Amino acid sequence: MKAKLHNRFLNILGEKVKIIESDLQGALLGAYLYRERVIQIEKKEIHTPDKMSTLIHEMVHAVFARSGVTQAISNELEEIICENIATMITENFDLKFKNARVRSNKR
Ligand SMILES: [Zn+2]
Repeated sequence: MKAKLHNRFLNILGEKVKIIESDLQGALLGAYLYRERVIQIEKKEIHTPDKMSTLIHEMVHAVFARSGVTQAISNELEEIICENIATMITENFDLKFKNARVRSNKR
């Protein structure tokens, strides 16, 4: 499955967060922009499971920002938690979007 992420919206604890695939200049695979409520994912073709792992990593940042956890822990600890949750989920599940459109060959 090739995950189409661009312009999708996520529900993060009741808050609408947009996914944008963009050129992050090779420095990062993803970023969460708190003020804009946007998750950026590197648009260059990367392996889909890696992309989903990056997405989950950024979603955990969004959950932490939304819930106030970001204020309570260090950046380093937040990164470790985000990365390990993303790894744990992607090594156990094949992920697809809940609201993914079902394509049919029939018309
Ligand atoms: Zn991070």
